[in-house]
Order: sequence, then C-alpha cells, then structure tokens
Amino acid sequence: MPFEWNLDEECWQQDDQGAFNLVHWGITQQPVEAQLDKAIACHVGARLCFSHGFFPAKFRYCPKCGKLMPEPPRVEGRWWPPVGDNPTSAYPRVFLEVTIPLAVVGWEDGQINPSELRLPGAGDYRFLVGEFGTRSSAMIAINIRGGHLHCLETDSSTSQWCELEPESQSLGHWECNDWRKSLAWAVAWTRDDKLLLPTDEGLTGVQLDLINRRYRSERLCEQPCLGSPAFLGTSLLAPTTLGLCAVVDDEAKNVPIESSCAIKLTDYYHPPIIEKDRLIWLNHTGQLIVERNGVAPRYIPWPADFEPRFNLATSYLAPDGQWWQLGFDHATEKYCFVQLSAGQQLIPTDGPRRIAGRICVRREQWSDRETAPWREKEEWSISREIRGAEHSDFHPLLYSREEIIGLLRRGQPQDSDRIFLLDRGNRVRLPQQELCQISIPGEPCLGQFVVYDRMLYFYYPGWGKLIGWALA
Ligand SMILES: [Zn+2]
Repeated sequence: MPFEWNLDEECWQQDDQGAFNLVHWGITQQPVEAQLDKAIACHVGARLCFSHGFFPAKFRYCPKCGKLMPEPPRVEGRWWPPVGDNPTSAYPRVFLEVTIPLAVVGWEDGQINPSELRLPGAGDYRFLVGEFGTRSSAMIAINIRGGHLHCLETDSSTSQWCELEPESQSLGHWECNDWRKSLAWAVAWTRDDKLLLPTDEGLTGVQLDLINRRYRSERLCEQPCLGSPAFLGTSLLAPTTLGLCAVVDDEAKNVPIESSCAIKLTDYYHPPIIEKDRLIWLNHTGQLIVERNGVAPRYIPWPADFEPRFNLATSYLAPDGQWWQLGFDHATEKYCFVQLSAGQQLIPTDGPRRIAGRICVRREQWSDRETAPWREKEEWSISREIRGAEHSDFHPLLYSREEIIGLLRRGQPQDSDRIFLLDRGNRVRLPQQELCQISIPGEPCLGQFVVYDRMLYFYYPGWGKLIGWALA
C-alpha cells in the first residue's frame, strides 16, 4: 500500500520501495499525470537527491541517505504586456512603465555581447512571465498568429521551449495584417492567473497547467475581438465586431453604446487605458469610454479634421493625471493634442513627438519632465540630449525609475537601421548588430521587451530569437 503525504497544497505517494511521486498539486488539488522531471520539479519546488530522486519541498534531507538536498532555484517576478512587471498597480496602466531597475551588467564599459534565445518556431510572439499556479515564475511564449503556447524550461545550462497542449479547444488566432492590429493585442488576468486574450474567434479565457504541460481554454464570447479585454470592477469588457461585450459571472452579453456617429466595427483599438473607475479604448476614428458610475458606455468621435497619430504616440499622461492624444489637425496643418473623454478642444503644439505614457520625445531631445508638452516652448529648458542624434528617431520602449530604454533609428531613411539602447544619461550603451528594417518609417516600433530570470530580452516580430542581456 502506498503511503500518502499530504503537505499543504501538495500530495505525494510513497511506494513500497520508498520512491516518492507527486500525485496532486495546488489549491485545486489538480491530479499530476506527468512524470516528474527537472522542469516540473522547478515549478513545484521539489528537492532532488541525485541518488534517490525527487522529494517534497518540505524535505530538507533525503529520507534514504540523509544527504542535504539543496533548495531548487526559484525565479521570481511577473511580466504582462503591454504593461510590464506590475499588473496590479492602482496607477493607470501606462503602457511602458516598469518597477524594476533596468541596469544591464557591463553597461559602464560598453563591452557587452548579448546572448540569444531561439524561439520555438516561426510566428508572431508575445511573452508573459508569472506564477501560473506554480512556486517559481515561468516564461510563456504565445504565438498569437498561430494560436500556440510554449513554456521555457531550463535545465542547469540549457533552455528549451515546451509546447503546451490544449485539453480540448485550442487557443484561437490573432492574424496580424497591419501594425494597428499587432499593437491591439494585450492580456487581462484574474487573481488566480487565468489569462483573458483577444482572438479572431472571440474573447478567450485560458488556464495554464504547467505541471501537466497543457492548458484549458474557453470562448467567453463568440464575436471576433477588435481590442483587448479589461476589467472594470467585476465586469470583463472587450470591444468586438458587434459592439461592446461584457462578461459578468461567466455570462456574455452585448452592451449598447451611445454615440453621436455610426461606429465602424472593423477598426482595431489600442490596449485600453485602465483607471479605477474608467476604461478608454482608442482607435483611428474615436474613443470608446466605459465608466463605473452607471453612465452608458459611449463613443466619442475625434474632432473634425483631427487624425490621431498612433504611429508616433501612445496617449500622453500629463502631470495632473489627465490623458491626451497627439494627432494632426488637417484644418490648421498643425500637430495638436486632444484631451481624452473630454471636449473637442484642440491644443496646438509645435511639432511631432514620440510619446509613451509620461515620456515625451521631441526631435532629438527627450524628457519626462513636469511640464505639459504644449507649454514646453516657453517653459522647457533642454536638460538632456541624445548624443549624435542628428537624423535619428528615438522610440521610447520601456521606462523605469532609473532608466528609459528605447530604440534609436539612425541614418537617413534609405540607410539600414541600427539599434541602440539608450539610458537616461544619454550614453549609447549597446551598439547592436545591424538589423535591417527593424522599424519602418511611418510605423511605430513593434519591438518588445520581457524580463525573466534576471535577463532583459528584446524581440521584434518575425525574429526567430530573443536577444538578452543580464540585469545587474
Ligand atoms: Zn538520497
């Protein structure tokens, strides 16, 4: 008769020969069918005696030979695009802000050779890091176009991707034909780390089971998504081709939207700005606003002659907490800002900018200073300058308290691009290998960062690899 060890959230069976097998795991006591190997042992924190196999995390010494068993290495941290590492912040969801220091080992002397991490195959990937019901954080690669999920499994020196199998229904696809749709993809999550993804087949809930290397997915609504989902209180909301879908207590319904104009139900929305009492999705023709105060969801078209320039700028978060969108006014032929969810007033500005949340880059200067960009002419004293940045174009990509990391496209448009990662002190830190056409003029940079296991990785859609640097 095997003996059962019930240890909080895990249950192990000890057979007559004394060997241990994990049989149930987690709060839900999910059965473990897979053979315990090093990768799964990492997820559950199991200890290893090289002579006698795996044992529960609570065992410090091997019960057979008495040897001390070291604690398995544990990875900590989270990463949820497009936010970064802090999905539960009460702060509005600024697209690129992260809380971790982004200093890379060896930046000071400029001698860094990045490492490479191959991807599972061709595809368009997004990356998530989290504790998906496991003791250690895992890195997940989602091939959004193909609808496949992969988990990175590390065994002392080598890392390889393991595909997760669907239990029944597959994930669904997000076929990206242009950058607007590519940028529209983002993920929402529940407290128990269930993922909520936009797909062409409908809003999809996904529960990962990394221990058995599979996942369970369910279609929460059947209409194709036009943007990413987000929670407002307990309601899960997402724009779809039928309007606005609301999922409450697992039941989906379409919510009417008030609008003074016809809403085009083919335009993709940017990932929503999420505030405590309000969600705002933006697209090429206007803003979809949902509030918690009982007012019906409404759609406000952009002012006449105003064209938002999402290729240059995400929304701008002003020091007073208001959100603005940069665009071009065809009537006056000037760049200008429109305040989100408010009136139709245009505030002209003196030229185009790259904007990401609170970062505002104007020509070769960049700043996250305390002055609204339309006032900078009189108030802005230039404090920082990107060295040798003539004929260049800086895309802010990631922002933390210590660092701003971005991509500097150098040279005339006909030249091939060269990536530079820049820090706040304006030193060009990482001259990368030349990468042709990494950012196409007139389009936003689609490069993504992900932080996992003290590494900073960079990925560009279509690449077969991630480039990584060790974090200090
Ligand atoms: Zn032993």
